[in-house]
Amino acid sequence: MKFAKVIIDQDAKAIDREFEYIIPDDLDLSQGERVNVPFGNRTLQGFVVEIKDTAEYDVKKLKKIISRIDNFAVIKKEMLELMKYMAEHLHLKLASILRLFLPAEMRTGKVKELIVRYVDLAQNYELPSKNAKKQIEIVEYLKANGRTEFSKISNEFGYAALSALEKKGSVVISTQEKKRAVEFDKIEKERNKLTPLQQRAVETISQNKTYLLHGVTGSGKTEVYMNLIDRCLSQNKTALMLVPEISLTPQVLANFKARFGEEVALIHSGLSAGERFDEWRRIFFGEAKVVVGARSAIFSPIENLGIIIIDEEHEQSYVSENNPRYDTHDIAEFRRSYNNCTLVLGSATPSIESYTKALDGEYVLVEMPVRVNGMEMPTIKVIDMMTELRQGNSEIFSVSLLAELDNVVKQKKQAMIFINRRGFASFQRCRDCGYVAKCADCDVSLVYHQAENKLKCHYCGKRYRALDICPSCGSKNIKQGAVGTERVVSELKKFFPEVTIYRMDNDTTSTKNSHRSILSQFRETKPAILVGTQMIAKGHDFEDVILVGIIDADQSLYQADYRSIEKTFQLVTQVSGRAGRSKQQGKVILQTYSPRHYVYRFAQNYDFKGFFQKEANLRKVTNFPPYTKIIRILFQHENENIVAKEIKVCYNKIQELKEKHPDDFVYLDAMKSPLNRIKSQYRYQILMRLKLDNIDEIEKEVYSCIDNNLKSSVFYEINPSSLS
Ligand code: ADP
Ligand code: ZN
Ligand code: ZN
Repeated sequence: MKFAKVIIDQDAKAIDREFEYIIPDDLDLSQGERVNVPFGNRTLQGFVVEIKDTAEYDVKKLKKIISRIDNFAVIKKEMLELMKYMAEHLHLKLASILRLFLPAEMRTGKVKELIVRYVDLAQNYELPSKNAKKQIEIVEYLKANGRTEFSKISNEFGYAALSALEKKGSVVISTQEKKRAVEFDKIEKERNKLTPLQQRAVETISQNKTYLLHGVTGSGKTEVYMNLIDRCLSQNKTALMLVPEISLTPQVLANFKARFGEEVALIHSGLSAGERFDEWRRIFFGEAKVVVGARSAIFSPIENLGIIIIDEEHEQSYVSENNPRYDTHDIAEFRRSYNNCTLVLGSATPSIESYTKALDGEYVLVEMPVRVNGMEMPTIKVIDMMTELRQGNSEIFSVSLLAELDNVVKQKKQAMIFINRRGFASFQRCRDCGYVAKCADCDVSLVYHQAENKLKCHYCGKRYRALDICPSCGSKNIKQGAVGTERVVSELKKFFPEVTIYRMDNDTTSTKNSHRSILSQFRETKPAILVGTQMIAKGHDFEDVILVGIIDADQSLYQADYRSIEKTFQLVTQVSGRAGRSKQQGKVILQTYSPRHYVYRFAQNYDFKGFFQKEANLRKVTNFPPYTKIIRILFQHENENIVAKEIKVCYNKIQELKEKHPDDFVYLDAMKSPLNRIKSQYRYQILMRLKLDNIDEIEKEVYSCIDNNLKSSVFYEINPSSLS
């Protein structure tokens, strides 16, 4: 008799462990298969994670597996190991991890292979009689084209003729699976001869290590990635390349398709369920050797990996903030080590965390400090909007920006106007001196909560009176909120009535091909201005964009996030990188109310290292990551008494832990979440900052303070970017 350990596919902490079942004698089951099992008085789905010859429990009490679900083992060995790793290090439920490993539609049984009927000419076919014109045409067609889809023949030449041929045995009809794949614009792209810097990067990145490729915008990182992938393929290995969803533009996808053809599988949010399912199976069965995709593609069942590449590694979108929460870097690091392969993290603005690791020797640093074509980086001009205001300009646009736009229009070139809109949170700012309120304890910006007319610190929960008078200059001219893309477009039209203006934001790109169509129209139109949000910030390569305007750079600077300055630096660098990529040096006009903030000085000089030093030092002094770890445990329930009671129990346990290890805790408190109620769920949170010396043990202990059978739903987050 054989036994299986099964994880039940239910999102419930109380049953999130392995259960033992008897494997029926006539079922030749393998590890990694999905099965139906009796559970209580129900039949549930589960994953077989182990097969054994002996049982741990009393065999008489064990139940039998009912049946298998798929005809192959959907979870490969590596993924089972990854599951264990994630459960232990990220404190996630086993079932919720396993769900990440296969297309959602597969679990619900809603997606199936697409089976198509085909027509072949029979080997000893009869020539149809002269009158049967349609039948002759079919025979001729099949002779010329070979196997053809049934529906095509039937539509073109008529069902009657086809059916007559079949009856005579002149054609053979068979069924076969057809893989659904997305169509792409066919583009021809010449391979560039690598520059010496690119060449050196490709040569350096060759071992089973993690490399941080720090290359300025336009330094040709993509070409380096493609060469690395080429090398992998020539060694009969496979490659996995991740790109932020937002930069998976049609252009990028088409480039990869052009370079790697049928060998590449593309995984992104634009796929239909059927396409996703088929791409996943092409990867699973080894037909696709290169996977290009957004975050979730890190879980692709690709085997024999030679390289993993994470482009724009600093992007926050690599961290899944929903449940189950994970950071793609951790998963990539696991897979690198499991496969003994290379991991490349690429960026023009590496995260403080990754760059710290590079300086510490954990990553190998590879640098490409100049643009491919030797073009100078765009000049960044910082405009003090406060001065503009004093000089009587209360428009959205500074005098300089308007003058430069005029210049672009005269030269029949293109400009991009970027509007920084991140998150819903807003801050209050003095219009006269630029003062923004910060928490006295945490040195992060306070968030304005309109409903209560209060300012709150999202890190410690402290509340402050909303500003009516500026504490710095006494002005009553307090402003909050930001301008949107629509407003900018309508203002621009006043100044440039004859110029075509495109707008790209969540509203204008909600339909399937709108993204692509806006970009291709913009590409063809000169002069033109493209106004947009984060969507236009990266990845785009438009030759004729010679000007970039940043409307309110400060929007990301005053977010209640310890990374807000870092993010502002990244954003300014990325957006600026869109300008002057071809023959003419680009210009950037950066409008701000805090012109003296150090972030703009470093960004203006493209001084990443200087910025890094300053920022890393600040984090160290104020005890923020990467020098500490922030943990938030968020409790939610529709009954406020229940959340409050349950969080109290948990908090008391952690409090005891803190008393045992006082040196490891920088901070610990429990509070209502700043957004106290969402979708009729009350939200309370425990926040802590931990020193790193004994972090693994302490974190385990912290995690064990969360009871298994709580009524509240609990989210455990590490270094979350939003604490609202
Ligand atoms: P990055 O990702 O570093 O910002 P890209 O990979 O987008 O830079 O490259 C910038 C531009 O330079 C692209 O248009 C690309 O086709 C071109 N390019 C890259 N490598 C070379 C090369 N070796 N020779 C000529 N052009 C190149
Ligand atoms: Zn605070
Ligand atoms: Zn003021």
